[in-house]
Amino acid sequence: MPTTSIEKSSPGVPFFDQSSSFTELWPLIGQHIDDVFDRGKFSHGRKVAELERALAEYTGARHAVAVNSGTDALVLLLRAAGIGPGDEVVVPAFSFFASASAVSLTGATPVFADITADGDYGMDPASAEAAVTGRTRAIMPVHLFSQPADLAALGALAERRGLRLLEDSAEGIGMRWDGTHTGLYGDGGVLSFFPTKTLGALGDAGMILTDDPEIAEQAGVLRHHGRMGRTIDHIAGISNLSGVSGTNSKMDDVQAAVLLAKLTQLDRDIARRRELADAYTERLAGADGVLAVPRTVDRGVPVDPVTYVYLVEVERRDELVAHLAARGIGTETYYPRPLHLQPAYADRPGHRPGAFPRAEAACARTLALPLYPDLTEAGLDAVCTAISDFYAGRQ
Ligand SMILES: *Cc1c(COP(=O)(O)O)cnc(C)c1O
Repeated sequence: MPTTSIEKSSPGVPFFDQSSSFTELWPLIGQHIDDVFDRGKFSHGRKVAELERALAEYTGARHAVAVNSGTDALVLLLRAAGIGPGDEVVVPAFSFFASASAVSLTGATPVFADITADGDYGMDPASAEAAVTGRTRAIMPVHLFSQPADLAALGALAERRGLRLLEDSAEGIGMRWDGTHTGLYGDGGVLSFFPTKTLGALGDAGMILTDDPEIAEQAGVLRHHGRMGRTIDHIAGISNLSGVSGTNSKMDDVQAAVLLAKLTQLDRDIARRRELADAYTERLAGADGVLAVPRTVDRGVPVDPVTYVYLVEVERRDELVAHLAARGIGTETYYPRPLHLQPAYADRPGHRPGAFPRAEAACARTLALPLYPDLTEAGLDAVCTAISDFYAGRQ
């Protein structure tokens, strides 16, 4: 039995901890891992196929293609959708770095748009439209923290301009827009199973979701060295030939085993996240120093939010982080710098401070508080008390 907690008895609240969930789930994880050992195939094997079927069913996707990370899922989705050198893809300036780097890794260029003023941290449709040029092939909204970006408006924009709509739904498991799971509103999306995500593995893993059989087939080829499947070849006999330069982006069966076990608790975990988010909001909405708490933006269609990250906007953010750290409370800054000002992209024309003011303000003011199914009410109380002490000037 593994003990994954760093120091059980230490005071404070870690930013992320899953030790009690794992203790409870370990027998089921062990059974799935035993299966992997019995079959002796540790990568791209039958557990991976089982997970693909299970997630296709959970999300309603026609095709689910398992890979080794959310980042590779994005790169392969883009490549499978035909994005490559000379193309541009519009992405929001406020996101995880991989939303932009995945585009660059295909040989295409990420072009940035600002986020909305509504508090959903999603890509602003008007700003996205302004970023479209003759070379634009796709727009790629990102569903951040707890709710989908404005898919109706962004989908309409893609349709009007003849562009692909690809979704960075790495954080989006369980989020639905008018009944459609994130990643499936447009041409395809991804899931990340990085350990801290709502459905997390014990290492890196990811998945492509799509209803498009051609994208699914191409992504399936690209993840495995571009292999076209077993073919009879006049030179080599029966062999695996590669038709394109693919990557080794296969998923490990041990990660698939962990994920199959965790999937049995996903809905319970999502409900627990909602309960904790509501408890935070009750304590923090309108509190001194707290400028904003998460709220679901009404876009006139039913939306299923899922709190992956509980994100607040606060005054004197960096001082608060230091105050919380001194009390042993872990926080994260998602994301400290907007993508157009990341060193990898900062030398492009127009990439100066002020270019995407809402993305820049979000980077300066937002803070992610500890939120995960294992968080206790006492832990949540300690976080909220430490925040109110800080703004009341109590050390
Ligand atoms: C986590 C994440 C990714 C990347 O997923 P990995 O599995 O860590 O490679 C991409 N985009 C967003 C928005 C994410 O949150």
